[in-house]
Amino acid sequence: MEVCIVGGGTAGWMAASAMAKKFENQSINVTLVESEDIGTVGVGEATLPHIRFFNQALGIDEREFMKETRATFKLGIEFVDWGKIGQSYIHPFGDFGQSINNIDFYQAWLSQPSSRSNSDLSDYAFGTVAATQGKFQFPHSGQTRAQRSFGYAYQFDSGLYAKFLRRFAENLRVTRIEGKVVDTTIEPNSGNVTSLTLSNNRVVKADLFIDCSGFRGLLIEQALQTGYQDWSSWLPCNRAVAVPCERQDSIPPYTRATAQEAGWIWRIPLQHRTGNGHVYWSEFTSDQDALDTLIMQLDGKPTAEPKQLYFKTGRRNAFWKNNVIAIGLSAGFLEPLESTSIHLIQEGITELLALFPHENYAHIDGARVLQINELDSDEYNQRMALQFERIRDFLLLHYVANDRNDSEMWRYFNSMSLPGSLVEKLHLWKKRAYVQRYEHGTFLPPSWVAVLLGQNISPENCDPRCASISSDEFHRHAATIKKDIKNAVDAALPHEAFLRKFGAYYGEPV
Ligand SMILES: Cc1cc2nc3c(=O)[nH]c(=O)nc-3n(C[C@H](O)[C@H](O)[C@H](O)COP(=O)(O)OP(=O)(O)OC[C@H]3O[C@@H](n4cnc5c(N)ncnc54)[C@H](O)[C@@H]3O)c2cc1C
Repeated sequence: MEVCIVGGGTAGWMAASAMAKKFENQSINVTLVESEDIGTVGVGEATLPHIRFFNQALGIDEREFMKETRATFKLGIEFVDWGKIGQSYIHPFGDFGQSINNIDFYQAWLSQPSSRSNSDLSDYAFGTVAATQGKFQFPHSGQTRAQRSFGYAYQFDSGLYAKFLRRFAENLRVTRIEGKVVDTTIEPNSGNVTSLTLSNNRVVKADLFIDCSGFRGLLIEQALQTGYQDWSSWLPCNRAVAVPCERQDSIPPYTRATAQEAGWIWRIPLQHRTGNGHVYWSEFTSDQDALDTLIMQLDGKPTAEPKQLYFKTGRRNAFWKNNVIAIGLSAGFLEPLESTSIHLIQEGITELLALFPHENYAHIDGARVLQINELDSDEYNQRMALQFERIRDFLLLHYVANDRNDSEMWRYFNSMSLPGSLVEKLHLWKKRAYVQRYEHGTFLPPSWVAVLLGQNISPENCDPRCASISSDEFHRHAATIKKDIKNAVDAALPHEAFLRKFGAYYGEPV
């Protein structure tokens, strides 16, 4: 089978690498077409822990990858000024505490009024305590559950990641073609794309096409006109300006998202620089004001010219149509508040590999046409739609779960009508501190708990079984967890020292 990937950004090279590895010993040939003239979106530096499993499946050495991409470890995201101005919290990767009599720790903590006034739930998450102290340790090295029940991700230079994966994929026989796609041929009976024409008149034929062409959606939209579900009434921020700056003396092991009057500002620390950007709603601020606000909040001198980006949040009506599968920005876009785009690329690739079409061809007018089983594409579309919707709800939660009404943007969120799925989730939380667990969803209950409590949304009641936990029993249990975490964080190294000791620091021999 001939597979053609259009686009050589993070999505294109992740897809190429995964396919090259998966089909190493099969007669499936992968070609990637990209245009250096068009270039890539050039942002996207913070990730979720799942990316470790993507790299591991490829057999990538963690040290080598971190050096090559100037990566740092990420224990979570600090949200500043979201619940109310002057308040911040960390959404860590991992759980809070350890269950007590099979009851979630956060429920038991909520049921003890004295614990709520004496401690913060985040005292019981290794990721939060370590992040606040600028320290890092691998999860598997802890002796107690509290020390082990956290995850980590990376913050990296996404341009370098794409280059790193390009070398990987080309070593596994992926063919790269430099060129600009100017035309697409569609077979009228099946609606399949059969070939692409490049600006130098070269024709690239394939059986299956992966559209990784970025926001423009060259195949999924421009050729197949799949349509877009516009979610800007829920997530109205529609622009961003990004500018890197000199790195800080010490590198925080976490990303920071600071709420603003008309959006929010990200800070993503890498080994050699800090990535910054202001995501905003153009209705309530000008491009110049957004840039000025960003520049004022930089931790160091800017190291490049600002880059302006435009987007519309939402998703394609279909991610897989005929023989075209859209992965990456061509599939849809949700603002990067919880670093989910690269994760959605990974999900798209994983689902595609699980539902990869069989080699079943029809011959129409002398052309070979791959037969797509609609059950496969329907299943793929349903799964990806759920992923997008659930992330949308989680992002929206940050905007609506708060007391802010100090600007027009925040007043808009105060009065908006929410998607039914989020209304239901919030209702269950408010009535009994319950968080539904999704089968196809990225964020598990601890993530929802982190944001809800971090933004002061207290439930009226908690799990009735908490009545069986005495105050003494709870406090003994909680004190042990706190002590274990304290010991583990005391023993952990400062983040940069850890990077160097581990051999992941660029410019130093492993
Ligand atoms: C403001 C902002 C901040 C972000 N921050 C994060 C983050 O922190 N974490 C995260 O996970 N994600 C983030 N993202 C998303 C992330 O940047 C993207 O998901 C990721 O870079 C993948 O992009 P892509 O490969 O789909 O598209 P692109 O990088 O745009 O690549 C498109 C490719 O298609 C090629 N192409 C296009 N048209 C043609 C043509 N006609 N012929 C040939 N080639 C063509 C281009 O040359 C390029 O190679 C952010 C996005 C934005 C906008």
